[in-house]
Amino acid sequence: MRISKLFIDQQVADHPLTQSIQARLDVPAIIVQDARQVHELVVSTPDPILSGKEILYLSRNQGAFFKRCPGTRNYTCCDYRILHIGTFCYMDCAYCILQTYFHPPVLEFFVNHEDLIAELNTVLAQKSIFRIGTGEFTDSMIWTLWTDVARLLVDHFAAQQHAVLELKTKTTAVEQLQDLNHNRKTIAAWSLNTPRIIRTEERGTAGLSARIDAAARCEKWGYPLAFHFDPLIIYDGCEQEYFHVIENLFSRLSAQNMVWISLGTLRFPPAMKPLIQKRFPDSKIVYAEFIRGRDGKMRYFKPLRIDLYRKIIECIRNHAPDIVVYLCMEDDEVWQKTLGFKPDDVGGLAHMLDMSAVKHCHLNLDTIA
Ligand code: SF4
Repeated sequence: MRISKLFIDQQVADHPLTQSIQARLDVPAIIVQDARQVHELVVSTPDPILSGKEILYLSRNQGAFFKRCPGTRNYTCCDYRILHIGTFCYMDCAYCILQTYFHPPVLEFFVNHEDLIAELNTVLAQKSIFRIGTGEFTDSMIWTLWTDVARLLVDHFAAQQHAVLELKTKTTAVEQLQDLNHNRKTIAAWSLNTPRIIRTEERGTAGLSARIDAAARCEKWGYPLAFHFDPLIIYDGCEQEYFHVIENLFSRLSAQNMVWISLGTLRFPPAMKPLIQKRFPDSKIVYAEFIRGRDGKMRYFKPLRIDLYRKIIECIRNHAPDIVVYLCMEDDEVWQKTLGFKPDDVGGLAHMLDMSAVKHCHLNLDTIA
């Protein structure tokens, strides 16, 4: 990670959080009128995506902090909610959808936490079960290098009893979670992959053992855990390598403390193929055979996806027969052929995950409207 410049929107130049980040970062700061100035600078560089990872733009979120996960109506969606704390990431994964999601993508952090907390309070006052994550438009934990955002959110969720916060990361930056009175309302979560994929496709991320070590520390501090094998990538010998990851995971951590494990195979919009080829010339992930899914994204043929899911689920079940495993963006046929049931059979995917959160995070159903 190398932040070379800090841009500050003039609207937040005097904000206390801006000043605190500025003091912690110690790089040249430039005040700008608005985002256009930052975007123009980034797009004028030879690799705007890389440039967008090396500058930090502090601004005010003018829109909503709380959103529904974009998902897609063509596949089973889990009704996840997003707390939009910032965008993009300083790590660099070949398959990262954020490379094309923002135009141009820029590492941007919203400092108006007073508005974030006010909006969150309104949402939490609804007294419904919510599963809320900060890791959809960014990595949840990268911001802890310069801010106390994780501490702020963990404290806030600890004070209520019907919503959980999932902090999802590929880093080991968990120091801020130590010694917090989290009340089990925060789930510490990691995306996992094989050491080969981490080495070749996930530049700047923590290695597999380091991620599991960080998870073990969080478990010791009493946090419930979750893991996401997403994207699963098919290559010669991948099954054995995924089995090793799973064995490693269960040899270090308690299955009883895992709220859920998700699985999802590689998928990407067609426009990402030339981008990956250009930015990651050694990557082989785009050279498999793909079909275009109902959401317009390229994905492996269904029989290949089913075959890999089955093997991985069997391996997980051998270690943890009762753990909640779900598929990200798949249809009923794939669920039935891999997990042996469809989400509707258990009241829907959202209900299935809500109940796991109730059990592991000690949510109080009596407080739910
Ligand atoms: S860690 Fe996540 S957000 Fe960051 S580049 Fe990789 S996929 Fe994208």
